[in-house]
Amino acid sequence: MSATHEVFNQSTPFEGANLFRVNRPLRDALRTWVPALDTSGLDALGAEMGSAEMQRHARLANHHGPQLRAHDRFGRRVDQVEFHPSYHALMGAALRHGLHGSPWSGPRLAHVERAAGFMLFTEAEPAVLCPVSMTYAVTPSLRANAALQAVWGPLLAAREYDERFVPHQVKASAGRAVTMGMGMTEKQGGSDVRANTTRAEFDGEDAWGRRFALTGHKWFMSAPMCDAFLVLAQSPGGLSCFFLPRFLPDGSVNALRVQRLKHKLGNQANASSEVEFERATAWLVGDEGRGVPQILAMGALTRLDCSLGTAGLMRAALSIALHHVEARHAFGKPLVAQPLMKNVLADLALESEAATALALRVALAVDRTEHAADAHEQVMRRVLTPVAKFWICKRGAGFAQEAMECLGGNGYVEEAGEGVMARIYREMPVNSIWEGAANIMALDLLRALRGADVAPALEHELAPVRGAHPALDTAIERVLQGVDAGVPEAQARILARDVALVVQAALLQRQAPAAVFDAFCASRLQGTPDVFGLLDERADLDPLIERARPVEAA
Ligand SMILES: Cc1cc2nc3c(=O)[nH]c(=O)nc-3n(C[C@H](O)[C@H](O)[C@H](O)COP(=O)(O)OP(=O)(O)OC[C@H]3O[C@@H](n4cnc5c(N)ncnc54)[C@H](O)[C@@H]3O)c2cc1C
Repeated sequence: MSATHEVFNQSTPFEGANLFRVNRPLRDALRTWVPALDTSGLDALGAEMGSAEMQRHARLANHHGPQLRAHDRFGRRVDQVEFHPSYHALMGAALRHGLHGSPWSGPRLAHVERAAGFMLFTEAEPAVLCPVSMTYAVTPSLRANAALQAVWGPLLAAREYDERFVPHQVKASAGRAVTMGMGMTEKQGGSDVRANTTRAEFDGEDAWGRRFALTGHKWFMSAPMCDAFLVLAQSPGGLSCFFLPRFLPDGSVNALRVQRLKHKLGNQANASSEVEFERATAWLVGDEGRGVPQILAMGALTRLDCSLGTAGLMRAALSIALHHVEARHAFGKPLVAQPLMKNVLADLALESEAATALALRVALAVDRTEHAADAHEQVMRRVLTPVAKFWICKRGAGFAQEAMECLGGNGYVEEAGEGVMARIYREMPVNSIWEGAANIMALDLLRALRGADVAPALEHELAPVRGAHPALDTAIERVLQGVDAGVPEAQARILARDVALVVQAALLQRQAPAAVFDAFCASRLQGTPDVFGLLDERADLDPLIERARPVEAA
């Protein structure tokens, strides 16, 4: 064949960068809020996650998604999921870096360090972080059964991943880690879990406490190859929380049947299953009839991870967009030099930094309440968990669409999984839906307002930035009024958005240059944030873009 054309003016893959070193907003946030933090682990993680090798694993794990083996060839039930080796490579890396149970036992990471690591890992691959997140989040719930916590706690924090389908004792004797998932959602109700119909019948008592036989189903139960799950079921005392392992203590397989894997929009590397329990053995965690608050101690932390995950995906999409617009020329200039493109990029950069800041603020509140009884931080943790999940995750899908558009048609193309931007776009909405969709988060904010004196706590939180920007002052007054007086349910999203925006502004005032803070206040607090790229003439676009560029400072 003769040559028909030369390929030019195309971009290159964004790979080989140390994702921590090139992320100035993240590094500035950590420097501001936890100045003593040793970031060498994050530096190593950033290098690994930016590597071409990890990107290849991410592509393969998503392109060759999990397969269910419900039965063997003789018709016996197997109930196992098979993954591409790249899935296991990613899981191995996540556990090696302590993104699962490490803040709770063993050589501990701070929650905020783990949160930063979770964001960096997300930039490479978010889907495998589903079981990693659930394993992180389970400890506050599991503690309510001291016998289980004593056996499983150390295994949840071990750093070596073990992909085998074997009992926890086998993993323990090899010094390997276990992972845990959760099963709440049933066909007839996900948000309204009180509608659960799975039955729990008392079956005796043993070293792990009160034992029950569970019969019923779960319509969504992700990562069914986890070693154990917290599930909700109706016992004689009401809806209760149970620990349900895949293997029983005698080494036999528990009666959990994996019926089907979901065929999902995104999140392809992660297996999300439908399961049935046929008198599956499970142990009570916490008090009978108190299942919802018991499992929500886990849900609150997975909600934090939804915020972190979305902030990480925003940063990934922004980095790819910024990388692309420097290489691609149109109408005689690199795209990054076109004034209107600058507006879009600068606006995306503002959103990405604000999301990172707010998600980290929640993680900081976890550190400050797990290690000390800090009443202010307790309120911030309670209030900002649903607020952050609502607002950051809700902004994610629009963000991904805009970042994709920076790449033009190439952004929309997957090409055997190589098109990372398309993968990010398909992944983005899930964080808004699972672990409580947006309305549920906004309603949870109203519940938090009823349970604590939130207005003085928010006033205290925002006091350092009073007078910093007129738009922020006005917004703070409006928020405090709404928080104090309460709002009708139908207005809950408005209040959740406003709390998110004033807290984001306050964080940026401390951790970012004035150009970022001013542009954020002018664009987010005076009028409703609409599509991206509407920054007015007051915004100084170049420094905003320069700050976000995914390159190491000279
Ligand atoms: C990929 C994926 C993985 C998942 N993995 C798991 C898992 O591992 N374990 C698990 O338990 N679940 C899992 N889920 C389920 C998920 O948590 C639920 O889908 C979610 O909580 C919503 O529940 P639902 O689907 O029943 O929707 P519904 O509860 O029917 O809600 C539908 C809509 O109605 C809104 N709504 C509900 N009540 C109100 C109200 N009072 N006022 C206003 N609006 C309301 C919701 O915000 C939502 O937008 C997963 C879901 C997905 C997509």
